[in-house]
Amino acid sequence: MSEIINVTRSSLPEFDEYCAEIRGIWDSHWLTNMGEKHEKLERALEDYLGVPHVSLLTNGHLALETILQALELHGEIITSPFTFASTTHAIVRCGCTPVFCDVDPVTYTMDPAKIEALITDRTVAILPIHVYGNLCDTEAIERIAKAHGLKVVYDAAHAFGVTKDGVSSACFGDASMFSFHATKVFNTIEGGALCYQGDALRQRISDLKNFGIHGPEEVPFVGGNAKMNEFCAAMGLCNLRHLDEWLAERRAVVEHYRARLGGVPGLKLNAPQPGVRSNYAYFPVVFDGYRYTRDEVFARLGEHNIVARKYFYPITNSFDCYRGRPGFDPDATPVAKYMGERVLTLPLYAGLSPEDVDRICDIILS
Ligand SMILES: *Cc1c(COP(=O)(O)O)cnc(C)c1O
Repeated sequence: MSEIINVTRSSLPEFDEYCAEIRGIWDSHWLTNMGEKHEKLERALEDYLGVPHVSLLTNGHLALETILQALELHGEIITSPFTFASTTHAIVRCGCTPVFCDVDPVTYTMDPAKIEALITDRTVAILPIHVYGNLCDTEAIERIAKAHGLKVVYDAAHAFGVTKDGVSSACFGDASMFSFHATKVFNTIEGGALCYQGDALRQRISDLKNFGIHGPEEVPFVGGNAKMNEFCAAMGLCNLRHLDEWLAERRAVVEHYRARLGGVPGLKLNAPQPGVRSNYAYFPVVFDGYRYTRDEVFARLGEHNIVARKYFYPITNSFDCYRGRPGFDPDATPVAKYMGERVLTLPLYAGLSPEDVDRICDIILS
């Protein structure tokens, strides 16, 4: 049996590079609580992403919950169900009500033409998701938000390093959330960040991520704990140095896939967006009218030790945990449902060899 190929493989710096980065922690004994690595990574990310403010957090999910709380949102939040569990769960766990908008069949992101019909007097925000590194129609979304006095928070977990006409994906809306989970393009083992324009949010986020503590005898806010520790921040500092090189390797894999699978009847590949510099985060293929169904191809790849992923499936408005709740109905978002039933993301990571890409494509095409 040939060697297993996973859908992704976490990027790591050289062992010695990481050891050198954490050496100082043994001198300072400072392991967490906004230490030197944490501060250095926040500034490095502000620079890399070209955004005025970055706050680091324990993970992407807590970053999402934190920003919903920081903006004091209570009511309905328009979002889409073609996403990871985290987005919908964050809204529900913060006591808000998700209202599901369908997605565009080309970009898989929220269809702006369908937003306004969902706005009620209880709507407080729009929470769109940049999917597979495709950017939402930020202009249309923000125009609608402005007209109705709504906040906009992007789930940008898939869009780290993506730019549109040279503008970073971190710069849109009131805030954007990034995930630095081990499986993402840029990782800090576990980690996440909030990016935003205004200075006012910094203190609010800082209160929420560190118990609302201002001083040894001063606790003016009810906060939680969502701090990034020094070992995770050190991993981020190392990985950031290699990011451009890894993005180039990912790009080569994507180009190889496109050369093999482009133009095959019944296979729909992700269309590059005009003006958008991709981060090559995922390689989704939609099996629509192909000789085999998505599930047949998924099973066949599995028989050959190749792990693809039905991503996103099931869509979040059909999760068991939400069964019977009003408003959770996959039939109300038919495009998201259709895509969820047909899409497969193929293995993609920096260093995936051309031979392995050929092996995967041979199985799909045979
Ligand atoms: C990974 C991911 C998250 C959650 O991030 P974590 O760092 O794993 O908590 C949220 N939304 C999307 C779209 C993701 O892909």
